[in-house]
This record gives sequence, C-alpha cells and structure tokens, in this order.
Amino acid sequence: MDAPRAAIKSMKKATHTTQRSTGTEVDVQVEYQQDRAVDNLQAESKIHRALNAKRRGDIFDESFEPSPKDLKDFSKPLEDKSPEVETLLHTALQSNILFRDLSEDQLQQILNALTSMSVAANTELIKQGDKGDVFYVVESGSFQFLVDGQLEGTCGKGNSFGELALLYNCPRAATVKSEKKAKVWCLERSTFRTVVSGTVAKKHAEIKKALRNVSILNSLNGDQISMVSDAVEKVHFKAGETIIRKGDVGNVFFMIKKGQVKCTRAGSRESSSDIILSEGDYFGERSLLKQEPRAANVIAITDVDCLVLDRETFHSLLGPLKDVLDSNLGMRVIGSIPLFAQLSNSERKKLMKALKEEKFPAGTTIIRQNEPGQKFFLIKEGVAKVTKSVGGVTGTTDVAELTTGDYFGEGSLLRDEPRAANVVATTDVTCLCMERQAFEKLLGPLQKIMKRDYDEREDQINEVVKEQQKLVEASLKLSDLTMLQTLGTGTFGRVKLVDCPKLNRTYALKILQKSQIVAYRQQNNVMNEKNILMSCDHPFIIRLYRTFKDKHSLYLLLELVLGGELFTLLHIRGGLLSNADSRFYAACVLDALEYLHNRHIVYRDLKPENLMIDRLGYIKVVDFGFAKVVEDKTYTLCGTPEYLAPELVLGKGHNKAVDCWAIGVLIFEMLTGASPFADPENNDHMVICRQIVRGKVDYPRKFPEQAKDLISRLLTRDAFQRLGCLKDGTAEIKAHPFFKKIDFNELQRKRVKAPWIPPIKDDLDTSNFDDYPEDEYVEAYKSDGTNWDANF
Ligand code: ATP
Ligand code: MG
Repeated sequence: MDAPRAAIKSMKKATHTTQRSTGTEVDVQVEYQQDRAVDNLQAESKIHRALNAKRRGDIFDESFEPSPKDLKDFSKPLEDKSPEVETLLHTALQSNILFRDLSEDQLQQILNALTSMSVAANTELIKQGDKGDVFYVVESGSFQFLVDGQLEGTCGKGNSFGELALLYNCPRAATVKSEKKAKVWCLERSTFRTVVSGTVAKKHAEIKKALRNVSILNSLNGDQISMVSDAVEKVHFKAGETIIRKGDVGNVFFMIKKGQVKCTRAGSRESSSDIILSEGDYFGERSLLKQEPRAANVIAITDVDCLVLDRETFHSLLGPLKDVLDSNLGMRVIGSIPLFAQLSNSERKKLMKALKEEKFPAGTTIIRQNEPGQKFFLIKEGVAKVTKSVGGVTGTTDVAELTTGDYFGEGSLLRDEPRAANVVATTDVTCLCMERQAFEKLLGPLQKIMKRDYDEREDQINEVVKEQQKLVEASLKLSDLTMLQTLGTGTFGRVKLVDCPKLNRTYALKILQKSQIVAYRQQNNVMNEKNILMSCDHPFIIRLYRTFKDKHSLYLLLELVLGGELFTLLHIRGGLLSNADSRFYAACVLDALEYLHNRHIVYRDLKPENLMIDRLGYIKVVDFGFAKVVEDKTYTLCGTPEYLAPELVLGKGHNKAVDCWAIGVLIFEMLTGASPFADPENNDHMVICRQIVRGKVDYPRKFPEQAKDLISRLLTRDAFQRLGCLKDGTAEIKAHPFFKKIDFNELQRKRVKAPWIPPIKDDLDTSNFDDYPEDEYVEAYKSDGTNWDANF
C-alpha cells in the first residue's frame, strides 16, 4: 500500500471520539466534504464566500535549522517506564497523524524523551487562549475539554491532546481540566522538532556526502543531488550474503554505510585480487549509467548497511544519468555564451534538449574556413584545434585549441556568414550540435529574440532603473513621504499608500515594527525579505525600490499596485473564477515561482491575500516575508495553514516543492471559492493540518477535468513525486494540458488580455482595497544589541 493510502486508512482507524481536536471534528468534516461534492459549483461558492471571506494569517515557528551540535541524544529514556506504560504511549503516539510517518527509531527517541507529570484533581492543565508548546498523553485519570466554559468532551487513559502545540506556538483552543487525580506524559515542541527534523537532516546530509564521493555523479548540481538523496533507501545484508553476482545485469548502485564487503572477480574464493570495501566506499555505480553485466561478485564480510539507489528511480527523478551529465554541461556552457544571454531558463532548457550529438574522428575538419555556416557546435569530449589560412599564404596557422565545454560557430545561428576559421579534430571529438533551422523551429529567429528582449525588456528595466535613479537623485528621506491610507495589514506589517510630492509619485510603503519582529523572532526573515526582493526583477513580482529605517521601524518602499488583492476579487467582489480566468492568474503565479525557483528561492506564502492585481489586470506577487534561498532543505514551519504542504506539517524538511503544492491549493480555491483542506466551520488548524496529511481532496461535481488532473498531481503527498519537483521543475507544470492555451512568452510581455481590468481612477485611488482602521501606534524598540538590522 502506498504511503498516503496507508496514512488515510490508519487515520480513519485512529479517530477518537472524546478528544476535541481528533475525532468528531474530522467526522463532521468528512461529512461536510461529502455533502459538498453533491452540490453544484455555483451554489457552493456562495456558502464558501460567506464562510471564507476572512483574510488568513500566517503561522510560523521560531527559526529552526537542525545542526549536529543541537541534536540532543534521546537514545536512552529520560525516565524509566514500565513495559505496559511503554506500550500505552507507543500506541497513543502511533495513532496520531503527526507521528504516523516516523521511523521506529524516531518513535523510540520520542518515547525516550517523554517525561511524566502528576496532575491533582480539578487542575487546569491547559488554559484556552494560552500559548502552548506541550503535547500530552494520558496514563491515568481523566480530563474535560471546555470551550468558553462549555463542556465539549472528555478523555482518559491512552488518549492524547494538545498536538497542535507540536507544530507552532498557537493559542490553545480549549481548556483542559483534570476530573480526578491524573498522570500524563509530556512532549515539548522543541524536542519533537529536534527529533523529527534532526534525524531527517542528519540522514539527508549523510546520503548527500556519500553521493558526492561518487565520481560519476561529480557534476550533478546541488538540486539534483538533493533530489536523488530523497529517494535513496537503506538496505541491510547479513554477513556472508551475496550482494551482487558477477554476470547479472545490474540495476542498483550501493554505498556502504556500515560494515565490510569483498569484491571478487574470480568467484567466491578468496584471491589476491579481492578488494575489501568498507564504510564510505561504493560499488555498482555503472548500473546508473547503463545496463551491463556486473564485473564482480560482491559479498558481505560482516553485517552490512547499504544505501541503495536503483536506476529506475534515478531515471524517474532526473532522467538517464548520461543525459543529465550532458545537459548539465550544456546548461553551464549555454549560460555562459553571451549570444544566449537573452534566453529565459526554460528556453535554454528547450535548446539543450534539441542539441544533437555528433562524432568526429581525429583528423576530421569539422568546419572549413570561408564555407557558409549554419551550425553551432559545443564540444562534449575531445580536443580540436582552430586553424586559419591567412590571405595569399599557403597552409594554415594554429590559432587556438578547443576542448570540453568550448564552443564554436554560434554566429551562424544568427546569420549566414562564412566561417572565419577551420576547426579540426585533434583527437576523436564528440560535439553537441544545433542547426539554425532547428533552432528557429524551436525558438524563432535568434535575431528576433535578441531584438525582442532588447526592445521590450529595455522599457521594463529602464522603468526600474529610472525609478531608482530618481530616488537617489532626490536623496529621498522618509520625511519626504506623506503617509495616506492603509492598503493592507498582515501579521507583521502594515502597508500604506504614500505620496512623494518631491517626485510627484505615489508608492506603497510596508512598515514593520522592530519590536514585533524581535518578539516574533523574525529578524532573519525580514532581512531575507529585503535582500530577495531587491534581487528580483520579474514582471509578476512586486518591485522594491529602496528601504528606510528609523529607531522603531523598518520600511520597504514598493511599487504601488492599485487593483487590490486577488483575495478581494475572489471572495469579496464575489466572482467565482472561471476556468479560463483561474488559468490566467495561475499562469502568472507559476511564471513568478519559476523565476524564483530558478534562483533557488522558495516563496512559502502563496495565497490570494498575497497576490495583487495591477493596472493591466496582471498578478504581482507581494509579501516576501517567508521567502528564502534554499539550496537543499529547510526546516522552519511557516506559511498559512490551508496552504501548507504535508512535509511542512510533518516537519520533515522542505524545499521549493511546497510552492508547487500551494499552486494546487490556489487553483482549487479559485475554481471553487474555498481551499481544499479548509475547516470552514471552526477554522481549527489541527483539523486543517490533519486533512492536509490525509491528502484527500473532494472535487465538486462538474469540476473541470484538466484542472482536476493538474491539481491532483500538484497535491501529491510525496514531494519527490509531485509535479513541478521532478527533472524539469516548474516547466513540467507549464506543460500540463491545463495551461495549453497559455503562451507564456506572450503572458510575460503582458500581451494577453487579462480577465479583469481593475477600475483605477488615479494614483491615489484606493477603491479596490478594503477599509482598515488607521493605527499610528508604534511600540518603542529597545535595541537587543545584536545589530541585526544593520544591513536593512
Ligand atoms: P502576512 O500576514 O501575509 O505576513 P505581511 O504583514 O507580511 O502579511 P504583506 O502581505 O506584505 O504584509 O502586505 C499586507 C497587505 O498589504 C497585502 O495583502 C496587500 O493587500 C497590501 N499590499 C502589500 N504590498 C502592496 C503594494 N505594493 N501595493 C498595494 N498594496 C499592497
Ligand atoms: Mg501577506
């Protein structure tokens, strides 16, 4: 049974009836979801609009990156337990969805970390509204759940409560009071998170290190190594067992984690040519490259733990290794050729795929001086020399030597010009080649591409550069800005419309109070927000022109977007979005995310509240408060409950795959008016999180088929199987039939008609925004001495 199914099945088994946030609400939710599927889309939307027209706040945990030195050792129990109690606790943990994915080893560490507490009768163990960071399992006694003083349920031996506290620092939803003397076992969030992400991170780092040692994987980039390491599995062999048999066709590659093996070519008899391999060594790596018989027997000398990776898995993640290596080489080179500088990343990838391999034996003249050229060459292997005959003189002169990674003939993609020199293969040479015709079929004339970008990007870039220049020239100070209405508020910030009479311009100013940033420990995130936004240049991403700071606040001076939030259009203006409109907005978001992901930035806060609509009706992504450069994985919980990917909920470490999940949620919300895992009745975060981990989406009747197919591929529980997270990244989402009608090049140039052009009278028109009470209060900030905002 695959993992999500198993999780759903055991989830159903495990729902209690007495706990507040486990049993009944899940059942109610299931019924609700089933009812929903019966109604038609339009009728439903009204209900959801009413239920959901509340902006959703962010949740976040303290920044948490497991490092080996922080890993506490829970290999021994902190407190002794009888075998019965051990079983009771084990069962209680296993029945909870947050623990369901843990390995036996992780579960044991958590059991070891539990500490007991006696509770006198009539004691409030948890108070409604208090912040919580402990989860409890009841060994004896019983408890009442009280919401606003009303009895909501009871629980006793073997039950657990307070699990949301394991995710983030949130207010308790109910008061929990002992009915009689009781004993509970406690687990703190920090312990839980350390064990889960710590063990995951440690394993991940180990595997990555092991993979890095493998010479044929040398040129894989960080992303690729990270993807592959997620798919590596641990396998145990007993002493004496044959791991590989000579002559068998190999499919699996092995890295030794523990123990020793013997590689013998002759047979199982000890011979002088035997090679002994141990921890850190690897074997069978050629099986990733091609199908060929194994050259030796490999036998376990001791008990052996191996990390294994099979070719099929490798292919499904990255494609054939040979192609990956070629493509890595090609992408690196193409990225460095000035002529291709204008190509977008996806165009480069397309180009890469169309390069054809050609072989030239030593001595071949690959191109000949003065002959017309139509072909571009990139040397993959071998050495060639460039020779030139100079007017009148017989013979040629050697001008240069070319080898792997060098290229020639790129000018021929542009125009029919005679070759300026000869290129002759010194050794056997393998090239990756592209003819002009093939190039033009794929991307259109290069000349046009260069001109297109020159003409159109110049306007855009000039606009930003001009804007920034203006600000510098005006040596603008905060006091030059007149604060007008509040356009929006969020968890940390308030965004105001500001007027700059000096430049006769209006902007949006995001104001963040330092005291709050420090109180929520968001210092790193705020610095990330500024640095990332400053580095971004994309038509669907908000422009940050400059920043200011004073004693108590930080300020981001942003491009002003007056069309309001997509949230308002969707939930307040009350348009359910049609399939075509949803496609348009999703395409803008996807393009922006692709831009970010190509720069190794994860966004982590996708929701209609953070998507603004510009004058032309296009999306601008705002709020980079959780954006982060992530080369590999990161572990801090943050985002908005309804949009969290399961790996975020489970604290297993996450990467850009969480944004792909969130696009799935967004498209569903645009089409139905509600997000797929919402809890419209109570907005109980634990209910939402549980539904996310269960991963079941109920599509209303008449749900468009292509959208459904796309969403189900995006809402795939395992990140390494999710659309957008495989070898072609977000390009794979763009290639889905749902987006067939979108021409992404035209979209980026804003030449596609937008679904809705917001009415905007002038640069001060805030009619597309809600009214917010103005609040000028700023809490005084006392420096904590760390100077964290020095570079803001
Ligand atoms: P969150 O709670 O999502 O973390 P936040 O405090 O980080 O929010 P933002 O999301 O950046 O703040 O901004 C809050 C709101 O302000 C947005 O939802 C939007 O309505 C409005 N807003 C933000 N940037 C702009 C802009 N450039 N132009 C117009 N309105 C904006
Ligand atoms: Mg926001």
